[in-house]
Amino acid sequence: MKINIEITKNPKPKPDQKNLGFGKYFTDHMFIMDYSESKGWHDPRIIPYQPLSLDPATSVFHYGQAIFEGMKAYLSVEGKILLFRPEKNMERINSSNDRMSMPPIDVDFGVEALKTLVKLDKDWIPTAEGTSLYLRPFVFSTDPLLGVRASNTYKFIIILSPVGAYYPQGISPVNIYVEPEYVRAVRGGTGYAKAAGNYAGSMKAQSIAAKKGYVQVLWLDGVERKYIEEVGAMNVFFKIKGEVVTPPLEGSILPGITRESVIFLLKHWGMKVSERKISIHELHEAYKVGELEEAFGTGTAAVISPIGELSWNNSRMVINNNMTGEIAHKLYDTLTGIQYGRLKDEFGWTLEIK
Ligand SMILES: *Cc1c(COP(=O)(O)O)cnc(C)c1O
Repeated sequence: MKINIEITKNPKPKPDQKNLGFGKYFTDHMFIMDYSESKGWHDPRIIPYQPLSLDPATSVFHYGQAIFEGMKAYLSVEGKILLFRPEKNMERINSSNDRMSMPPIDVDFGVEALKTLVKLDKDWIPTAEGTSLYLRPFVFSTDPLLGVRASNTYKFIIILSPVGAYYPQGISPVNIYVEPEYVRAVRGGTGYAKAAGNYAGSMKAQSIAAKKGYVQVLWLDGVERKYIEEVGAMNVFFKIKGEVVTPPLEGSILPGITRESVIFLLKHWGMKVSERKISIHELHEAYKVGELEEAFGTGTAAVISPIGELSWNNSRMVINNNMTGEIAHKLYDTLTGIQYGRLKDEFGWTLEIK
């Protein structure tokens, strides 16, 4: 399929690189493609960034068939534009689409669309230390019909947003509230899909934690509220007595690309890594006897987010003296090093956009 390109006649002024924040500014263009049962995915095009016009009955507003992705384009020291494992995001779109009864998108074509759009808006990639261009592909249903069934039509859109450094002051730990009541996902549900609804359902616990003075919540499993699942919208890792542990992917956990890369790196470094169930009680016991050495979240936005304090059941676990642990630091330096082209990409994880 050929991507039709319509260049904007009104390029926007670029935002101040010192105040980018996250997801506030958007570039001059967007990618859009439609799906219908008779034509499949068709009419891929890049057009000036603009609002959408949708019928109020549009299915996504009512029944929420919607998924998204998040990834970044990095400007390397030599001025190269790099993506990090973009085919993994496209594969995950298809896994999410499948769970939401939405049609798959050709992975290579999706990567081509990402590359073409980023290349066109490359002047929007910020240059300041730690900044990047955030890529937000998303898919949603568009039938203007209130009947409860999977839509027959969809849109796939990609928008781009220059974003500031996640750690303007350098990597540092956050405090986390272990959520006792609300859950994010259950096995058999939609937790493994990057579905918009998973986020809608998680906001309440997030705002409760924020009111209590915590940055994020630690989610427990939906059945027993016992086993650890994720931290906010990140996967979670613990180092207990030298062993790095992360919960297994059993349907309720989002299979993070950062998670996969972290497991790979740790194994590559000869460390002991286990994907296994870990209960909040086991974690607390390990803490009490001084064996909980590190805790951190992983995800595209922060890459590595060290956990300095966990609040559970009125007890506070202060981890590694509220400082970034050695493993968290090494993972952060290695992953961002590869992403920004400061380190040699031994594993073929980066894709240069030429
Ligand atoms: C996106 C996301 C992650 C992290 O995935 P990455 O591919 O590493 O960015 C983890 N948990 C949830 C719930 C997510 O939505």
